[in-house]
Amino acid sequence: MTSPALEVRNLHKRYGDLEVLKGVDLVARDGDVISILGSSGSGKSTMLRCINLLENPHQGQILVAGEELKLKRSRNGELVAADNSQINRLRARVGFVFQSFNLWPHMSILDNIIEAPRRVLGQSKAEAVEAAEAFLEKVGIADKRHAFPTQLSGGQQQRAAIARTLAMQPRVILFDEPTSALDPEMVQEVLNVIRALAEEGRTMLLVTHEMGFARQVSSEVVFLHQGQVEEIGNPEQVFGNPVSERCRQFMSSHK
Ligand code: ADP
Ligand code: MG
Repeated sequence: MTSPALEVRNLHKRYGDLEVLKGVDLVARDGDVISILGSSGSGKSTMLRCINLLENPHQGQILVAGEELKLKRSRNGELVAADNSQINRLRARVGFVFQSFNLWPHMSILDNIIEAPRRVLGQSKAEAVEAAEAFLEKVGIADKRHAFPTQLSGGQQQRAAIARTLAMQPRVILFDEPTSALDPEMVQEVLNVIRALAEEGRTMLLVTHEMGFARQVSSEVVFLHQGQVEEIGNPEQVFGNPVSERCRQFMSSHK
């Protein structure tokens, strides 16, 4: 059997005395769309951020396409990348879409998209621009390529951020509440882009409060509670007939 696109084993993270992740395991096979649900503070963002080392875990293993990320223990007890090439390789293979878009404000949309492919993947300018234009087309904002981020609506900025992530040809994309910062009328346009990515077989982890959407697009649903996987299963089971009482309560209060 081929290696999973992404595998996380026994992930632990604490802030001071607060244990936020208490041994999380997760496997995403190619084409999986895994929604991660849980109350505020349950560790969803911390988990995603540890996976691509935006936060440093205290314990655990991260494997991308079967290849284990090399980590070393820093003086403060956290695990950090063994060297910069590990970070660059990881970030090229695992894309991250933030709640707050995080586009570079001083660059045009096109420049935002071609920056990393040129620097990290070594693409020529012509090559990067051609690919960027195709991704802008895909997310429906080709006409905005010369605009700056502040000239775009929130929904357009998030679609640009998704195009920027796609341009790195990631193996897996992590989404941390990609629609939570948007005005309600813009949520759907971003969900439609994510749905299209799901349909083309992209491997994704999606933290979201859009329960109806998660139920439709997910191949698997993970319910986190206080830094542990409390329930995991297919959407019909986790939404429709959860085993865990906490998951059941969460579902009934998020209808
Ligand atoms: P979620 O995304 O599920 O709402 P988070 O992963 O953001 O939860 O946070 C989990 C817990 O970790 C919360 O109690 C939060 O306050 C705490 N936390 C998150 N980031 C930090 C940080 N940088 N420093 C200290 N505590 C943090
Ligand atoms: Mg969060």
